[in-house]
Amino acid sequence: MATVLGEVLGEVPGCVLAIYAHPDDADVACGGALAYWADRGAEVHVLLCTDGDKGTTDPAVAPAELVRVRSEESTRAAGALGLHPPDRLRYPDGEVCEDDVLRKKLVERIRRVRPDIVLTHDPTAVFFGEDYFNHRDHRVVGFAVLDALSPASALPHYYPEAGPAHQVGTALLSGTLEPTVWVDVTAVIDRKVEAVSSHASQFTDGGAWAARAVRLRAEEEGRRAGLELAEGFRRLRLGG
Ligand SMILES: [Zn+2]
Repeated sequence: MATVLGEVLGEVPGCVLAIYAHPDDADVACGGALAYWADRGAEVHVLLCTDGDKGTTDPAVAPAELVRVRSEESTRAAGALGLHPPDRLRYPDGEVCEDDVLRKKLVERIRRVRPDIVLTHDPTAVFFGEDYFNHRDHRVVGFAVLDALSPASALPHYYPEAGPAHQVGTALLSGTLEPTVWVDVTAVIDRKVEAVSSHASQFTDGGAWAARAVRLRAEEEGRRAGLELAEGFRRLRLGG
């Protein structure tokens, strides 16, 4: 029986905004796609919601120092992908709330950047096997971004002071259990590995395990799409 392969996104968007919770999330989730599109002329923006102040198991690391280190790491990672440093909302880890304040901040960024595609966490993906369930900040940010995209950003009477309305055409949700489209990251995988490895504060082995994990994950998604290496996303078409 013939294998049915997933749809590969071949078209390069004009403008992309990736909105993620923690300083390393965008690089892990979609760093390959962002680099691939940036190389081909897309305008790529990254917005990080938290400052990563609690992302350590070491009680001796002060949160303020961790924020400083992680800010440098995410800036370095963006450079590896060929992107400008991320924009930041600077919520403390675990304190980002799915409320009107966050939605308004997101709507303001979306209307300012005016992207064709927004990438974020799939907030409906909760349990991944027996080993992991999705971080609260990922779920909160994912739902808040979806609510900011539709209907809020697209309708002028939502947050009229947050800029002129903008309809985003497509949302791509990462960390999903139901991918429907894939991006070919074969040519940029080394830069994705470099970006993820830039978050040295998150690894005890210097990032070697992460480098292997990034490649294995890309191989797995590649098999589903008929590509050597890929990133998979759940696509929502919002433009009507
Ligand atoms: Zn995260």
